[in-house]
Amino acid sequence: MVARLLSVILLLLSSHGWAAEPPVRVGVLAYRGEEHAASVWEPTIRYLGDHFPGRGAEMVALDLAGMEAAVQNRTVDLILTNTGNYVDLEARYGVTRIATLQSGPSSGNAIGSAIIVRADRRDLTALRDLRGRTLMAIDPDAFGGFQVAWGEMLDAGVDPFRDLKDLRFSGFPVDRVAFAVRDGTVDAGVLRACVLEELVAEGRIDPAAFRVLGPRSAPDFACTHSTVLYPDWPLARLAGTSEGLAKQAVVALFQMPPDHPAAKAGGYQGWAVPRDYQPVHALFRSLRIGPYRSLRDVSLVDLARENWHWLALAALALLWWTIHSLRVEHLIKVRTAELRAVNRDLLREMAERRRAEENARERQREIDHVARLSILGEMASNLAHELNQPLGAIANYARGCTRRLEAGTGRSAELADATRAIAEQADRAAHIIARIRNFVRKRAPQIEPVDINDAVRAAAALCADRARSAGIAVTLDLADGLPRVAADAVQIEQVVLNLMKNGLDAMEGCPPADGITVRTGPDGDGRVRVTVADRGHGLSAEARERLFDPFFTTKPEGMGLGLSICRTILESHGGHLWAADNPGGGVEMRFVLPAAQENPTHEP
Ligand code: ADP
Repeated sequence: MVARLLSVILLLLSSHGWAAEPPVRVGVLAYRGEEHAASVWEPTIRYLGDHFPGRGAEMVALDLAGMEAAVQNRTVDLILTNTGNYVDLEARYGVTRIATLQSGPSSGNAIGSAIIVRADRRDLTALRDLRGRTLMAIDPDAFGGFQVAWGEMLDAGVDPFRDLKDLRFSGFPVDRVAFAVRDGTVDAGVLRACVLEELVAEGRIDPAAFRVLGPRSAPDFACTHSTVLYPDWPLARLAGTSEGLAKQAVVALFQMPPDHPAAKAGGYQGWAVPRDYQPVHALFRSLRIGPYRSLRDVSLVDLARENWHWLALAALALLWWTIHSLRVEHLIKVRTAELRAVNRDLLREMAERRRAEENARERQREIDHVARLSILGEMASNLAHELNQPLGAIANYARGCTRRLEAGTGRSAELADATRAIAEQADRAAHIIARIRNFVRKRAPQIEPVDINDAVRAAAALCADRARSAGIAVTLDLADGLPRVAADAVQIEQVVLNLMKNGLDAMEGCPPADGITVRTGPDGDGRVRVTVADRGHGLSAEARERLFDPFFTTKPEGMGLGLSICRTILESHGGHLWAADNPGGGVEMRFVLPAAQENPTHEP
């Protein structure tokens, strides 16, 4: 009974295939489409399947993206792919080669590039001659069809992406490249090594029409090529694929006879122990492609390393510039501080000078004032005499009015005349007092156009009484039409008065002769000259020498300041004072003053 039950269970299991494992899945790179891949690789996969009894094997045709997805998702057990793709997957997903395809008689590496040109292009003999030319290749991702040649060209100093006139990619079929070169559409073309020979064998091109640039030779490798050679396609297992399965596959492939239909369909001679794919890694690293694509993102450090000499130069320049700027800044600071100090000193000196000048002016004003007071003191009798006249007249008119009012005879018209006369005389007296006050007032000089004759008359009026009482005649000989002088009228009046007073002093006690003559007239150069001539005792030798020295006097009551003040006043007006002998005896004091700059239309 039990034996029967067991046999039924076994039967069920076998009929439902529960014990059978799924077929081994081999991912194959179908770079020219599924159909092409199936025709080339299906027999090989079937051969492998025969070596996995009860399980079998199935081919999964994949493009590059599909291959990556299959490896990533582990939907295949083994992969058969080109050299470049394998290196990429090895670096990223840890797939491991277990056998390397042997496509030709060579037991060594067999993938390289042939760079072909037209046979008659004598100007193209080496790879470096490609600079500035046009080049055609299959595809940027084609290993033998471009990348190997790319590395070789870089070694020859030609970057295909930078140094060529044009870089074009034809895509499949590969004979497009050969045709473009033959027809002169491009200067050169890149073919996977052996493709040229295959095209010749197929009768598609004439071998005499082409030449291979920089041809190389390798033992056991019959095809012409321009580059180093790299290992052929590998069969690889995924990281999760069991050791046993891998071993079974390798043993099967190694046992495949060279004339097996699968080998014929695949166009290979057999399978060899896996080659070293490190040179491919090195190539990809130098080209910064595949797993090394990230190296393209050039870091600042890379840039710095590559351009260290320029950086060093720039750093030196920056250092020099910084030092120079700091030095210039320092010098400017020092110089600015010096200039500031000098400026401070200068401002202080200017302020001191201004103060000193102001003090000097103030002193001069004081001296002028004192001198005027002093000279007026001497003329006090003149002042009394001048005031006496209006005061006397006022008294007379007032008395007359009083009499008429008391007698009752005063008619109002007469009285009005008298009181008007009183007012006039009072005005006259007030005018005299105002003039005197103005003369002695302490004030700053006021420069304005002055008629020199007016100044002479005013001075003469102030000393007229003294001259009269001394019996000395005063003659004024004043020229008409003189230009006005730019002067302070009071100061000029003071000068003339001082000179006349000195003349009167000198004539004191002398027998009255011609008296004093004051003359005005033009002096050439548009100046005005004033002469005060007396007939006094004249100048002693000492007086001639020291006439203008302050405090030089020969008079018992004299201060010796009059002439020095006169000279200072005249020189401050741009004029000049000097003494000369009067030819008739006595002294002539002369001075000149420049004319005022007046508007010519101005009436003098
Ligand atoms: P002061 O009149 O107070 O002496 P001045 O400076 O006016 O001061 O005159 C200085 C001196 O010059 C006089 O003392 C006098 O000796 C001399 N002097 C000035 N003017 C005359 C003059 N016209 N004739 C002679 N001597 C003069």
